Amino acid sequence: MTAVATAGAVAGNAPGNLLTDRLEAIARGFKHVAFASSLGAEDMVLTDAILRAGLPIEIFTLETGRLHPETLAVVARIKARYGHDVTLVRPDAAAVDAYVREHGANAFYESVELRKACCRIRKVEPLARALAGKDAWVTGLRRAQSTTRTDLALREDDAVHGIAKFNPLADWSEPEVWAYIREHDVPYNVLHDRGYPSIGCEPCTRAIKPGEDIRAGRWWWENQDSKECGLHVAPDGTLQRAGAHRP
Ligand code: SF4
Repeated sequence: MTAVATAGAVAGNAPGNLLTDRLEAIARGFKHVAFASSLGAEDMVLTDAILRAGLPIEIFTLETGRLHPETLAVVARIKARYGHDVTLVRPDAAAVDAYVREHGANAFYESVELRKACCRIRKVEPLARALAGKDAWVTGLRRAQSTTRTDLALREDDAVHGIAKFNPLADWSEPEVWAYIREHDVPYNVLHDRGYPSIGCEPCTRAIKPGEDIRAGRWWWENQDSKECGLHVAPDGTLQRAGAHRP
């Protein structure tokens, strides 16, 4: 569903008030909270809610070195709209150079292993660095985004990083995301209007056709069930959702 097609699809915006409540509770409960933004639509909803409420939650994005220019442009648009700098977390340059030297710049097309190795260098290790010293982190994941996310909890125990993990949009629908964006005039990645519902690195993301699954444009050459970048996966390969927090 495109941004234009979903605009105004939801009447009112009660989920927005609930979202602010959820974020305020996280900020109250934890001293050092970070929000990992992919600069996609869901993450712009969270960015808007965090910055308008003035919450002490650091916003960072993994600048993998392979993002679309349109995605990087969102960082400048956030600065222009909110006067806020998004922290850019980059991969270790020596590790990137070694991967490219040994396998080639686009070796991720050759096997799931080489794709995951690239994600480890450009995303997973930088994420661990960004979360070091934090008590909790926030993501824009939603249950409806993927078959691998249907049991996503609002709060999880992140065993990999040893901190709490919150998914405040877990129960949001795509129309609710776009209704919030329209209502609050939130800047968003222009690629969403060109058929990209889910946006990652440029060589690993393509536009989708009407009726295709919203994650169909991510690592489209792989099986559906292997489509996680490792940011939300435990070392044994299981999804971290298995450790959902039980209050
Ligand atoms: S999404 Fe693609 S380019 Fe980006 S880190 Fe993963 S394999 Fe590498």
